[in-house]
Parts: sequence; structure tokens; C-alpha cells
Amino acid sequence: MTLSTADIRQKFIEFFKQNGHQAVASSSLVPADDPTLLFTNAGMNQFKDVFLGKDKRSYNRAVSSQRCVRAGGKHNDLENVGYTARHHTFFEMLGNFSFGAYFKQEAIEYAWQFLTDHLGLPKEKLLVTVYSEDDEAFDIWENKIGVPADRIIRISTSDNFWSMGDTGPCGPCSEIFYDHGEHIWGGPPGSPEEDGDRFIEIWNLVFMQYNKQADGTMQPLPSPSIDTGMGLERISAILQNVHSNYEIDLFVNLIDAAAHIVGTDNKDDKSLRVIADHIRSCAFLICDGVMPSNEGRGYVLRRIIRRAVRHGYKLGANDIFFYKLVDALCTQMGDAYPELVEQRPVIEKVLRVEEEQFSKTLDRGMAILNETLHDLDGDILPGDVIFKLYDTYGFPVDLTNDIAREHNITLDEKGFESAMQAQRLRAQQASSFGVDYSKTVSVDAHTAFTGYSDEQGEAVILDIIKGET
Ligand code: ATP
Ligand code: MG
Ligand code: MG
Ligand code: MG
Repeated sequence: MTLSTADIRQKFIEFFKQNGHQAVASSSLVPADDPTLLFTNAGMNQFKDVFLGKDKRSYNRAVSSQRCVRAGGKHNDLENVGYTARHHTFFEMLGNFSFGAYFKQEAIEYAWQFLTDHLGLPKEKLLVTVYSEDDEAFDIWENKIGVPADRIIRISTSDNFWSMGDTGPCGPCSEIFYDHGEHIWGGPPGSPEEDGDRFIEIWNLVFMQYNKQADGTMQPLPSPSIDTGMGLERISAILQNVHSNYEIDLFVNLIDAAAHIVGTDNKDDKSLRVIADHIRSCAFLICDGVMPSNEGRGYVLRRIIRRAVRHGYKLGANDIFFYKLVDALCTQMGDAYPELVEQRPVIEKVLRVEEEQFSKTLDRGMAILNETLHDLDGDILPGDVIFKLYDTYGFPVDLTNDIAREHNITLDEKGFESAMQAQRLRAQQASSFGVDYSKTVSVDAHTAFTGYSDEQGEAVILDIIKGET
């Protein structure tokens, strides 16, 4: 019998509870009082102050399954979605934590015991990395656990020195990889082919020892601690005998729902994976109070929604569709996250309004982009086109890039920047004559639509929150 994703989450929590860990609920995707962080990107975020010694809890061992978003900020996987077998914008990170209770040896022993005894993974499929200078970790793997020395790889790069952001808790780490087999392209960590998907990193054990300061210096933490993170979707793929995260139970169901909603039979289409990924990040971000807007977190959300909408359009969706996936998402994840079900009406409305707005300009913007790509001399998309798509048609730059990449075209980002700069300058000059053109929306001569009014969209969204729509 194969384990479901929900079973695996449960097993992880149970294992660490039996080993004296306090089960702690996932925190919000919007970090509490932490301006250094865009979105929660790891299980340790909610314990940052405990590691730093600024906050005390009634427990010194914890276990959680943390919802994470890696789109923007230090850890950004938005560009990987649709291209690798292992990256999502939204994923769940299983983690066990020690606040001075245990350190390297126990952390390594727990991880090995859980994977090999509890889940029954074959030892010969696993290999591990350690930070190049960390002889202690190497020794534990080799002599206490019995991993052959040729399967323990020393890594000198930042890959094996984990930090949450530019500042904050950090330390050397040791990672566990799973070999999915020769038939998949890729090499072991540290090799030139490591970007492939044959050897997939499943679990990172961080030996938290320092607090990185803004000037780069490392201050020792009050007590050496442990922070670990294992991607739930990656371990599920292994246990369900599939290679890609997108083939696990949860994703198969979301992809089926998406295929049905947009009306396609081609379940292998990359766009379906993107849509299935993006509904999770968008729905959970809205659930945690982020609203689409033109800046900060809200703009990241808007960018993800517009990307998903574009992929739906590419698959042939001919009506507002994205919000319809919330239903399937609630079926898949509502038990683990009851707040998702509670917030469902708000999530659906916000997604619907946002898509309705964007769909007004999407067709025309796509037509311009396709024409330009068709007539393009060379392989670089000019900055003024990127700017026009951004300014008049509401195409975030990464959306344009996502499309251009499908045609092996890159963006003239410098050209885009100077077009932006020129616009700012025009706005400044205009405002010195008493009219602030930066506040007006641009008009495209070819459409009756008078620019992309985000202000209007935001007003509707505010009404939704207040319950007036
Ligand atoms: P990778 O090298 O594959 O990008 P990472 O080194 O950036 O992963 P960590 O920061 O070490 O990842 O996070 C701990 C664990 O969380 C990883 O070992 C992996 O199992 C999981 N994980 C990280 N990023 C993602 C993602 N974008 N989607 C799904 N799981 C992820
Ligand atoms: Mg990464
Ligand atoms: Mg890595
Ligand atoms: Mg890692």
C-alpha cells in the first residue's frame, strides 16, 4: 500500500512527537513582525527569535509541517516551476527543531532512522553532503551511521551553509539526496550535472550556530541548535514510486481538475503543472491575508495569478477559470488546513476579480507579443515592447519572460529599465506643471480600453474583504 501525502505528513509529526517533540502548527505565509522576509520560506522562520535567544518557549524540541512560498526574496523558485521535477512556488516543509536540546549527532540519527527504518527507504539510494570543513558531521555519517565514505560528499559552496536571509540564524548543513536512477539526467551534488533531476535533495539538516549580521560578521548563537527541512512533496514522490513531485496523488488530482476546467486532454502539458502549482500559492497567500496589488507581497501574488491565467489561456481556456480550482484544492488540502475551507469564498472572489481584470488586456497584449516574436530579428526582446506590455497591458516582466523563454528569447532588461526611467522622468516633469501623469493610466490607441486600472481592482478587492460584494 502506498502512503498518501497526508499520511506522510502525519507519520513525520508522529515520529518526532514520540521522540519528545512538541507539535507546532504551521505559521502564516506572511511572517509576523519580520520585515527582512517577504514570505515564510522555511519551517524555522517562526522560531527565529527562539534560535536567537530573544524568545523562550515551554518546549525545547518542536516538529511542524510548515507552508512555505518561495517566489521572490532570497529563495525564489518561481522561474523553476514548469522546468524542474522538484520545485514549487508553494510547498510544505516538514521539520524538526532543537533549541539547545540536541545537536548534530541526534539530528543525523533521527533523520536516518526516520527515512530508513520508519519509511523503509533503501540505504543504497541515499547519499549525503556535508559542509567542506565539517569533519564532525562527516565522521558521524561515516562512523556512527555507516554511510560509505564515497557517498558522503563535501561541499564548499553556500549550498551547504544555510541562511534564512541576508541576516539572521544560519549555520553549516548536511543534506540527504535520493537517487531516482540512471534513466534520469543529472549528477550527484558537487558535479557539473547536479542541476538535473536524478539526485534529488530531500532533507536539509541545518546546524544552527550563528547569527549573521548586516555587515557579514557571524555572532555565535546562545546555544547550538537544530533546524531541519524536508519537502513533503519530494518525499511523497519517492514513497509513491514516481519521479516528479507533479506525479504525486495531490498533484495528479489538481492537474486532473485543471485539465477538466480548461478543457484539455493533454495531462502532460507543462502549463497544467504550472497552474496546479500556482493555485496552491495564490490560494494560500490570499488565505493568509495577501491581496493582489502593485507592490510588495501583493505584487508577487498578482504576478503568480497572471502567470497562471496566461498558461490557462495557452491551453485554450475561453472563460474565467482559475478560481474554479479552489474547489479541488479544498478537497486535497482542506483537512490539513481548515482555514482554507473557511476562507474559500474570499479566495474565489479575489481570484475571479483579478482574472476578470487581467483578461481584458491579455488577448491584446499577447497579440502584440506574438507579432513581435514572429518578426524579431535576433533573440532579444526589445525593452520598449516589454515596457509597453507592462505599462499598458499589465504584463509583469517575469510573465513576459516566461513567454519569451518558451521561444528561446531573452529580455533586454536594460532597455526596459531605461523605458521605465524615461516614464518616471516624464511623470516628474509633468507634475511640476501641476498635472501628475504618474497617477493617470496610459491609453493604447488600438483598444477602447483605457489602460489598466489597478486602483479600481483594489477597490473591488477591499469591498470583498469588507463583505460588500
Ligand atoms: P534545491 O536545491 O532543490 O532548490 P534548497 O537547497 O533550495 O533545494 P532548502 O532551502 O535546503 O532547499 O530547503 C529544505 C528542503 O525543502 C529541501 O531539501 C527540499 O526538500 C524542500 N524544498 C526547497 N525548495 C523547494 C521548492 N521550491 N519546492 C518544493 N520543495 C522544496
Ligand atoms: Mg533552492
Ligand atoms: Mg539545495
Ligand atoms: Mg538545501
